[in-house]
Amino acid sequence: MADNTSKPSAPQGDKGAPAGENNGERTLGKDFIRQKVDADLASGKYDKVVTRFPPEPNGYLHIGHTKAIALSFGLAEEYGGVTHLRFDDTNPLTEDTSYVDSIKEDIHWMGFDWGDRLHYASDYFERLYDWAVKLIRKGVAYVCHLTEEEIREYRGTVKEAGKPSPYRERSVEENLAEFEKMRRGEYKDGEATLRAKIDMANPNMKMRDPLMYRVRHAHHHNTGDKWCIYPMYDWAHGQSDAIEGITHSLCTLEFENNNELYRWFLEQLEVPTPPEQTEFARLALNYTVMSKRKLLELIEKKLVNGWNDPRIPTLSGLRRRGYTPAAIRAFVERVGVSKANSVVDLGMLEWAIREDLNYNAPRRMAVLDPLKVTITNYPEGQSEELDAVNNPEQPEAGTRKVPFGRTMFIERDDFMEDPPRKFFRLAPGREVRLRYAYFITCDEVVKDAEGNVTELNCTYDPATRGGDAPDGRKVKATLHWVSAEHAVNLEVRNYDRLFAVENPLAQKYKDNWLQALNPDSLEVLTHVKGEPSLAEMQPGDSCQFERKGYYCMDPDSSDGAPVFNRTVTLRDSWAKMQKKG
Ligand code: ATP
Ligand code: MG
Repeated sequence: MADNTSKPSAPQGDKGAPAGENNGERTLGKDFIRQKVDADLASGKYDKVVTRFPPEPNGYLHIGHTKAIALSFGLAEEYGGVTHLRFDDTNPLTEDTSYVDSIKEDIHWMGFDWGDRLHYASDYFERLYDWAVKLIRKGVAYVCHLTEEEIREYRGTVKEAGKPSPYRERSVEENLAEFEKMRRGEYKDGEATLRAKIDMANPNMKMRDPLMYRVRHAHHHNTGDKWCIYPMYDWAHGQSDAIEGITHSLCTLEFENNNELYRWFLEQLEVPTPPEQTEFARLALNYTVMSKRKLLELIEKKLVNGWNDPRIPTLSGLRRRGYTPAAIRAFVERVGVSKANSVVDLGMLEWAIREDLNYNAPRRMAVLDPLKVTITNYPEGQSEELDAVNNPEQPEAGTRKVPFGRTMFIERDDFMEDPPRKFFRLAPGREVRLRYAYFITCDEVVKDAEGNVTELNCTYDPATRGGDAPDGRKVKATLHWVSAEHAVNLEVRNYDRLFAVENPLAQKYKDNWLQALNPDSLEVLTHVKGEPSLAEMQPGDSCQFERKGYYCMDPDSSDGAPVFNRTVTLRDSWAKMQKKG
């Protein structure tokens, strides 16, 4: 039981249905949890719905948690009930108050609120202790001195029954005295545990005299040095649910085997209307890792820049990347609630944010890899302002002025000196449209000594102002652009998938999962030119860089050039690659 809370751990990546499969059973009507709630209310088992979200404050929330949050908070909301936020802070070694703060912030950001129902499992330590004493008195709990390793050995295997601890038959008096000694600090870490006396031959290993308490001489963020014994997850969880009057305790599938024990404790304590635990499938995404332990490893090894790195699926990372609560909620809604673990394709999450930003994000022009263009027939020293549409999805968003002058920037890859057949953009002698502005024709290519294209000389047709030719002639390409004289310098961080493979936790990567990282998950561009209106944006604001993707201004922008994080490309380039590959 070394350091962990003895909570079951999440499945490691390679289980579950194939990527992209939507196991949502909601589409068939109500999901199985809502059906159960309906039945419970109809039968009078419960007269209200009280749920809880029980994060362990040992890391930041990730998008997997939002599935649990949306389910527990959403369910209570739908049935006129309430939801408690309870920090499952039973392990003093891994928990930290900074995590408590970030978790609260993230839940609020998602648009959910626990009102005055903020609780800590550690608030119930005294009550749990008294209840443990009650079980000792009933003869169903005992103090054991087997070592951690011995306990494991005595537990047996799935095929073989375990054998009883030599301390199993102690008298109630002796157990009471021993438990008291544990509390008083007379045992060192690992020297004593309190165990439930259930059944060492039970086919469910969780029922083979599970641990309720262990000795841990450690400072706790909430209770300080008051305790040197700490309850195990199984002992703390259901009892906390009962204390708070929770009705529906919803958790992920890896707790399925704990359900029997959850019920056993409540039965022994004779809780009048006990809460019930129901399990649902975890959310897993491909091309990423979700577990806090794995995320912490990436952070500690400096492979990402902290809990809010825009490449990791934490809510603070997603927020910084430019994801919105609405898109995340739409995504988890679409995934649905089911009993079968599956891996959801990251493309589905990206689809949700594209939907949102396509409608909501204003359009702007920025040139990521600038190539200078001189409009040789445009009067020197002159400039003008043209009207650009802010958002074609929202006509009421109107237009803005964009300056145009004699020197411009276009994207380097929008020009080819010797274009192949399918390349329709700018090339020598060819005419294209500059969006919202004019038709231009490339007359001359300027190169450096090595033969690299450094500039283009073009002419414009003043009759095409606004982007259409009065004589009806057509061009095959429309380019975005920025006036050199008016441009603002930007830094752009193009984020991509964190892992290059769908399932970095697959058996074949085993201990080498870090080698599956995508080496190109971040590309930093420091010579980006943006239209002047970008200078007015605030950190957290999103826009679409036309033809390039959706971008969100980063908090790092406070000093120096504004920084823009790529939220997502305009189209799913990975899906295309997979089809090709
Ligand atoms: P991780 O394994 O990622 O570290 P955890 O399960 O240890 O997460 P907790 O803070 O203990 O995280 O979880 C709080 C609640 O969130 C639990 O009820 C848990 O079932 C749920 N939860 C955690 N991860 C997911 C997920 N990927 N999908 C759905 N629910 C999740
Ligand atoms: Mg965990």
